[in-house]
Amino acid sequence: MNSKLFDKKLGVIGGGQLGKMLLAECNKMSITTHVIDSSEKSPCKNLCSKFYFGDLNDYNTILNFGRDCDIITFEIEHINVDALDELEKMGKKVYPRPDTLRVIQDKNQQKNFFKNNEIPTSDFKYFKCLDHLAIAIDKNEINFPCVWKKTKFGYDGFGVKVLKSLVDIETLPDSEMIIEEFVPFEKELSVIVARNPSGEIKCYNTVEMEFNKDSNQVEYVISPANISDTINKRAQDLAIRLSNSLDSIGLLAVEMFLTNNSILVNELAPRPHNSGHFSIEACQSSQFQQHIRAIFNLKLGETNHLGSAIMLNIVGSEGYSGKVYYENLDHVFKSKFSNLHLYGKEETRPNRKMGHVTIICDKFEDSYEKAKFLKETIKVKSK
Ligand code: ADP
Repeated sequence: MNSKLFDKKLGVIGGGQLGKMLLAECNKMSITTHVIDSSEKSPCKNLCSKFYFGDLNDYNTILNFGRDCDIITFEIEHINVDALDELEKMGKKVYPRPDTLRVIQDKNQQKNFFKNNEIPTSDFKYFKCLDHLAIAIDKNEINFPCVWKKTKFGYDGFGVKVLKSLVDIETLPDSEMIIEEFVPFEKELSVIVARNPSGEIKCYNTVEMEFNKDSNQVEYVISPANISDTINKRAQDLAIRLSNSLDSIGLLAVEMFLTNNSILVNELAPRPHNSGHFSIEACQSSQFQQHIRAIFNLKLGETNHLGSAIMLNIVGSEGYSGKVYYENLDHVFKSKFSNLHLYGKEETRPNRKMGHVTIICDKFEDSYEKAKFLKETIKVKSK
C-alpha cells in the first residue's frame, strides 16, 4: 500500500453480515483486514486478508487476535472486553473504546449511564435474581405490565419479555435482570451517529423501525421517519449528546421510543446497525464507510439523502430450518429501484436474518408499497 492512510492492519471481531458489509467498504480501499468469528462458516471467511476461528468471549483468543492488528473494531457486543482493555494498554487503537462497550454490554449499567447523564429513559429497577424480584412483587413495588430484560447477552429481542401478570414470571430464567416500566410508544426510532477521535460528529436521518407483531423483530426501516422536523432534530441531538458523553469513537446506534411527542432512549449499539443498512444505497457515505472513516480518524462523509428509502429484512420463514432455499427472489429484480443483499448464510431458521432489500423511491407511498409486496412474496425456506 503506497498511501500512509491505510497502512494499518484492521482487526474486526465478529464475522457476521455486519462484518461482511464492513469488509465490502474495506476492500474498496484495499485495507488489510483480519477477522475473527466463532463460526468457521462465517460470511467473512473468504473476504478478508486473514480469517481466525475462535471464541469471542475468551480473553486469550481476543488478545492474541488483536496483537497482530493496529486498529481493532467489532461488529458484535458480546465479546471479551478485558482483552480489549489490555490491547488498548498495549497501544492498539480499539474503537469503539472498551469503556464505551463495557457500559453498553450491561443493560443495568447502560440505564444508569442514561440516568446519570440526564438522558430521558423509562424508569427501571435492577434485580440480582428471581427471588429478589419476588420480594419486590410481594411489597407491591412492581406494576404490570412491565418489561423484563436480562442484563447481559440479550440480542434481537431474545432476553426481553413483556410481563403482563404474575404468571409470566414463572417462565423467566434466573439471571441478573432489570424490570422496566412498559412504554406505550407510538413509534420506535433510531439514529446512527458517527464520531471520530478529532471529535467530528455526524448523524444520519432519524429512521422509523416497524416491527413484526408476532416475532417482535424489525421488519421495515423507513428513512426518513414519518415525524416532524422538530422530533427529528430532538432525536439527533440526543444521539449527539450520547456519543459525546460516552466519548464514543466510530458508530453508535441509538434506539428510541416516541411517545406523545416525547422521546425516551431505549438502548445503544456501538457498531453498524440494522437500522442503518438503507445508507448503503441511499447515502453518499454508507454507515460502513462512515465507521471506517471514523476509526481511521478521517473526515466524515455525507449522510443526507433524497427521496424515501425503505429497508426490509429477509428472515427465515416460520417452520423451516436447515439448508436455505429462497423463493421468488427474482421479484426484487423486477421491482425497479430495489437492491438485494444476501448474507451468504448456508442455514436458515425461523426469523434468522438472511439478507435485506433496500428500495428508494421519490415518494414514501411508492417505496412502502414495493416493500410490502416483496415482504409477502419472498420466502426463505429449507429444502
Ligand atoms: P434487544 O437488545 O434484544 O434488541 P430491546 O431493549 O431493544 O432488546 O427490546 C426489544 C423490543 O422490545 C423493543 O424494540 C421494543 O419493541 C420492546 N421493548 C423494549 N423495552 C420496552 C419498554 N420499556 N416498553 C415497551 N416495549 C419495550
